[in-house]
Amino acid sequence: MTRLSYLLLLPLACMLWACGQTQAPPPSEKPAYVLAIHGGAGTIRKDLMTEEKDVAYRASLRAALTAGEEVLKNGGDAMDAVIAAITLMEDDSLFNSGRGAVLTSEGTAELDASIMDGQSLNAGSVAGVKTIKHPILAARLVMDSSVHVMMAGLGADTYGEMNGLEIVDNSYFITGRRKQQWEKKQEQESTAIKKKYGTVGAVALDQNGNLAAGTSTGGMTNKRFGRVGDAPIIGAGTYADNKSCAVSCTGHGEYFIRNVVAYQSAAQMQFSGKSLEEATNHIIHEVLPPQGGTGGLISVDKDGHVNLPFNTSGMFRGFVKAGEPIKVAIYEEEPK
Ligand code: ASP
Repeated sequence: MTRLSYLLLLPLACMLWACGQTQAPPPSEKPAYVLAIHGGAGTIRKDLMTEEKDVAYRASLRAALTAGEEVLKNGGDAMDAVIAAITLMEDDSLFNSGRGAVLTSEGTAELDASIMDGQSLNAGSVAGVKTIKHPILAARLVMDSSVHVMMAGLGADTYGEMNGLEIVDNSYFITGRRKQQWEKKQEQESTAIKKKYGTVGAVALDQNGNLAAGTSTGGMTNKRFGRVGDAPIIGAGTYADNKSCAVSCTGHGEYFIRNVVAYQSAAQMQFSGKSLEEATNHIIHEVLPPQGGTGGLISVDKDGHVNLPFNTSGMFRGFVKAGEPIKVAIYEEEPK
């Protein structure tokens, strides 16, 4: 070859080398497991939060994620991980679920919870229970031990008690903070429900590729007794299907019911070919706001992607993927 041909071939060789260098990295591997949680969305602003509370919320989110991750790390089921995270948050009076739940117009606690298994599409839920210490366990009981999906009120409380769930007096759920909140609301003599939330939820993907979702709440402050929100309604507040994703919602429940938000996320993925991010962002940022629907959701899909959109000023949230550190966030901020 002449010197001239070498000179002509040189740019081509350089181009080929450059192409090799800029090749797209291989698609990132699916994590062995994933867990995401929320502790409610709403008017949660940094300027209205004390440093102490900020730190306490983040610590509680980390504790719940640690408890759930322990299950997944050891090869446990997505469902067990969801239960582990939610029972811990139900015990934690910072959140509006179990102890620390918000109160109805009558000053009592009426709790809603649901759970769904993405493999079998089995689901269980309870609405308006007043004495079951861990409503999420009652939801699981309905799923595992009854032929029903949903039980409400006294029937649900009785079923839980008959089957050995821990029973408490309704006063157990009522903390000083919620009582004060309720009294203030009564003074205002307003029937409007307060737009500050605190529901808890968890979604998980386990090492066998199964998805699960669960949600637990006291509902909305000063709700009419007997009112049921989205949390115990399968498809509205909670949904899981191994074909698409697992979702748990938080926010103004009436809007989440009307828009079947959790199921709509899964359906948009399955039938419209949207990614998890596209489907859930669309609902939270485009479908709900024009109607006045405020809130957010946590979601994980069958490939381990996570999306945690909200259209309020904040949402207590966090997630963990196998081999990565736990990340939590409260306001508009990158989870860390
Ligand atoms: N979605 C719940 C309800 O409407 C409230 C919340 O998420 O805080 O009952």
